Amino acid sequence: TVIVRFAPSPTGYLHVGGHRTALYNYLFARKHGGRFILRIEDTDQSRYVEGAVENLVKSLRAMGLDWDAGPDKEDEKGPYYQSRRLQIYNKEILRLLSSGKAYRCFCSSERLAELRERQIAAGEAPGYDGHCRHLDPREAEKRAQKEAHVIRMRVPDEGAMTFHDEIRGEVTVEFSRVDDQVLLKSDGFPTYHFANVVDDHYMGVTHVIRGEEWLPSLPKHLLLYEYLGWEAPVFAHLPLLLNPDKSKLSKRQGDVAVEDYLAKGYLPQALNNFLALLGWNPGDDREIFSMDKLIELFSLDRVNKAGAVFNTEKLDWMNQQYIQAMEDAAYLKEARQWLSGTVLNDRGDAALLAIKSGLTRFDEIPDRLAPFVSRVSLPQEGEAAELMAAESTRTVLQALKEKLQVQSLDDPAGFFPLMKGVQKETGIKGKNLWMPVRIALTGEIHGPELGVIAFYLGNKEMIRRLETALK
Ligand code: GLU
Repeated sequence: TVIVRFAPSPTGYLHVGGHRTALYNYLFARKHGGRFILRIEDTDQSRYVEGAVENLVKSLRAMGLDWDAGPDKEDEKGPYYQSRRLQIYNKEILRLLSSGKAYRCFCSSERLAELRERQIAAGEAPGYDGHCRHLDPREAEKRAQKEAHVIRMRVPDEGAMTFHDEIRGEVTVEFSRVDDQVLLKSDGFPTYHFANVVDDHYMGVTHVIRGEEWLPSLPKHLLLYEYLGWEAPVFAHLPLLLNPDKSKLSKRQGDVAVEDYLAKGYLPQALNNFLALLGWNPGDDREIFSMDKLIELFSLDRVNKAGAVFNTEKLDWMNQQYIQAMEDAAYLKEARQWLSGTVLNDRGDAALLAIKSGLTRFDEIPDRLAPFVSRVSLPQEGEAAELMAAESTRTVLQALKEKLQVQSLDDPAGFFPLMKGVQKETGIKGKNLWMPVRIALTGEIHGPELGVIAFYLGNKEMIRRLETALK
């Protein structure tokens, strides 16, 4: 069976690029009836962030993903926190030491910094120079009792490795360009590279689907599989997400946290749909997909090599499509969460439905409701002010007011016949009929359907506003 994992380092939030990785893993697992694991890669103690894992789990859940095993769903393959698996790493590091595939390195951080500086100054690629590679192992064991040190993997000096990536195809890397990677740090914690390989093996991962930034590390990982006598999984490295200027997606050019997008009123399913298409396509120009459809259609051979631009206009468009497609009841339930201080009367549902069309994000709701709830300020200059001062305007507003005094409005559709009555009585029609009424009721020349506004305001409030405009 297929077993995949999402293996985030808990930085405090869920990056949209990270979420796309999670999503592709999830789709792949569900498509193949496999397992999807969430593993927390928290081996960097210096980067510990309080509450980061809870936050991550919350965001992934809010996005509609679920996993078969993870930090909140432990099973016999766990623990799913790397920081709780130190014994496993220790056991494997001892195997590497005794086979000579890893060695203890006592170089101080000062020496390494100096080395690096020298290499950079000489125009060389910085990397470990193998200073401790040839220490006598017994000697090294002795020193290890009292000296701080790390454990490095031994990478061949010469030759090259050719490997296969599901998305990139054949890739060849010269060993001369691969560093003797630190596997175990002086604090006893493994590095990402080591823990990642050990865990993928122990957790039975069959397919590693992750960001392209890890492709250069793959030779190290494959060597480790070889050294440990394990079969390597299949690898698929996903294209980068890019800013519109084609640089790597960064905070500076917009939001990168999933929670920021949710807080702006993007729907999880719209965001998933959008992200699914950043790097993958179904082979035709369809664009709107339910999660079930994505699961059905997803395949690694339709993932692109080229980076994908994170285009916010496209996301807006997609979110709008999803909002339009919502059932009224579901829409109202969601919309009510976004009032943020706006108080609606008991005809609020009508107002919320009236602004549904054209709504791009739910956080626009308070602004869009303004014509319904704000105090009207009448235009003081320009064409609109002239129109309001016209004699025909007074005639229209007066006639409408009289009608409202005797005839109550019970639904939005009732307003049109009422206005037709005003038209008949006054002989005024078109723009000179409708525009003054809209301005008197909302202060604006554009806005939601007037019938809904009228219904929402009710007779008493409309009369009050008409009187203000008539003063
Ligand atoms: N912890 C790594 C990250 O945060 C995981 C990379 C991988 O999936 O191997 O990107």
